[in-house]
This record gives sequence, structure tokens and C-alpha cells, in this order.
Amino acid sequence: MRLETKILGILGGGQLGRMSALAAARLGVKTHIYCPEEDSPASHVAAKTFIGEYEDKRKLKAFAESVDVISYEFENIPVETVRYLQQFRPVCPDDRLLEMAQDRGKEKQFLNDIGIPTARWALAHSAEEIQTMTNDMGCSGFILKTTRFGYDGKGQVSYDLGEDPTPKWQKLDSNEIIIEEKVDFACEISVIVARDKLAQIATYGPILNEHDNHILSKSTVPAPIPDHTAAEARRITEHLAEAVDLVGVLALEMFVTPDGRLLANEIAPRTHNSGHWTIDACTVSQFEQHVRTACGMPIGHPNRHSDAVMINLIGGDAKKLAPWLEMKGASLHLYGKDDIREGRKMGHVTVLRPKVAGDIDHG
Ligand code: AMP
Repeated sequence: MRLETKILGILGGGQLGRMSALAAARLGVKTHIYCPEEDSPASHVAAKTFIGEYEDKRKLKAFAESVDVISYEFENIPVETVRYLQQFRPVCPDDRLLEMAQDRGKEKQFLNDIGIPTARWALAHSAEEIQTMTNDMGCSGFILKTTRFGYDGKGQVSYDLGEDPTPKWQKLDSNEIIIEEKVDFACEISVIVARDKLAQIATYGPILNEHDNHILSKSTVPAPIPDHTAAEARRITEHLAEAVDLVGVLALEMFVTPDGRLLANEIAPRTHNSGHWTIDACTVSQFEQHVRTACGMPIGHPNRHSDAVMINLIGGDAKKLAPWLEMKGASLHLYGKDDIREGRKMGHVTVLRPKVAGDIDHG
């Protein structure tokens, strides 16, 4: 008698792939990684790694044929790569969600079309359009963002009404940008949803997210926001997951305004940095949900048993580990990256606290 072992293929070799591969191993699922870099964090814990460019069809085909199902751990994978791979194996989430999440204009339009509010926004294709559109938008502070390939604050600049738009347009160096109203938010939150092919849903959060230099520095769960705002944030994210017919995991980042409104900012079609605490504070983590949904297993109940604070270890933080190694309730995760660089996510720490009695039983 044999137990059939699944092989999960993951595009991308970063820490998200690494933590999914670790979760996969616990479920007896083997992971094959495909990425261009040698010695990637995910490759250290995977059964096999294919090193290749995302355009190398011969290598991609060999990778696809070595696995049962394919997923990805970051959203800047070319959509054409995913479409090519879909000829050989299912890819989840599929190319439609990936394509939308890669383009801030398409993403915001989709969110608005399904009734999810965002900050006011408009598309611009020249410095002149920035000037005319900002005059028409009825606000005074803006963030200009490239529609594609922005993350952790890269590809965005702030802009004030009346300012000369040319230097900002040149700095962004893109033929299409979105102009966004600068939101005077009370806080930033995210919700993470996992959905399986039978449309069962598991939800984590809302999570309070604090940034340093545009990079996530700290996530806290539960987020200290009113229950009805938290419920609405979960409802919105679950609605999004239904609307895109998600099979996989996605995160929705939102602003909470001082008057309690929620404005969606960004969709991540994958596991999310703000959900790393789920490894230590839940029975089933976001990474395990990633593996389960990709491999056709039912989602699990998150069963959050603790409150948690997750602190990212960025750049030189990775050299200051002694306090974390000593702290009761702290669980240290390092990503196996040798090169310390400014702004580079090297690891994280999750600090658990007893769950507040009477807290609603969600993730
Ligand atoms: P993003 O790349 O869109 O996730 O933005 C990175 C960070 O920039 C966010 O987490 C916010 O802290 C800030 N930010 C982005 N868009 C806005 C906005 N419209 N108003 C105010 N802050 C923003």
C-alpha cells in the first residue's frame, strides 16, 4: 500500500515560499521551488529547486512536470509565465487574480466595481495630466504611484496640489501612474482570507499594521478597532475572495479613517507579511492554508489561541537577537539570508500573549 504524496511547486524563493514549504513538510507535501536566484530562503527547506528565469520555457516546463500543482509567493511573476505553466498544471490563485493584483489601476477599479471603497484615485499618463487631474479631485495631498511593480513604498512619491509635477513624473519613470488622495488615516489594517475549492473560507484579522519607512515593522492582533469596524473589514475581504473565486490565500490592506470608514489600499494574492504571527498563534497558519488550498485539501479552522505581536527584523536587526532569544513568549524566525542590506526583511519575531477572554473566535 502507498500513501500518495503531493508535490507543490512554488514560483519564487523568498521567505513566504520558505514558510509555505515548512508548512507543506508538516503535511507530508514536498515542495519544489522555481526562482532565478541561487541559495534562496525557500530553497533551504525545499525538496528540490529549479534555478531559472521566469521567461525560460524549457526550465519552466521541466519544473511544471515535476509537480502536481503550482502556486506563487510573490506577485511580480510575469502573468505570461503563469499562463504558460497553466498548460501543464493548475496554478492557484489563477492568472486573473495575479494580473489584477499587478496593476494598481485594475485593482482599484475592480475593488470599486464590487462595492469596496478606496481612496479617491485617477490614472495619469503625463505630468500635464497630473496637474489637471489633481485640480479636479477635490483634495490637497496626494500619493503618486506607478501602476506596476511597486512594493514597500517603492514606486511612489507624495505630491501637493499646485506643485510642479514634472520632477515627480520623471522620478516615477513610468508611462502610467495612479494619483491617489493622501489618506489621513487613524491606522492601517489587513485581513487575510483563505478559500478552498469548495468555497469554504477561513479569515485572519483584522491585524493592525505599523510601518517604518514604508516597510511593515509591526503587526498586532487583534487590531484595537471597534468590533463593527473589524466585522466590516472581514466582510469586505471575504466578499473580495468570493468575487475573484479565490482558491488560495489573499490579503487585503486597508486604511481606517478617523471617522471609522474603511478604504481598501492593496490586494496581495498570496500569504502576507502581516500574517506571520499565524504560525505561532493559530492551530492552522496562513502558510498551511496556502498548502491546503493549493493541494485540494479543505481549509482548516485558524483557531487563534493567543494574542500576538509580530515584529519584522529588518537589516541590522538580525544582529541583535539576544533579547528575543531570552524573552518568554517570543518565537524567533530567521530566513537564512546571509547578506544584511538596509530595508531587507531578515526574519521576524512573534510575541504571544494570552488571548483576551471573551474575544470573538476568529483568526
Ligand atoms: P502601498 O505600496 O500602496 O502598500 O503603500 C505603502 C504605504 O504607503 C502604505 O502602507 C501607507 O503607509 C502609505 N500609503 C500608501 N498609499 C497611501 C495613501 N493614499 N494615503 C496615505 N498613505 C498611503
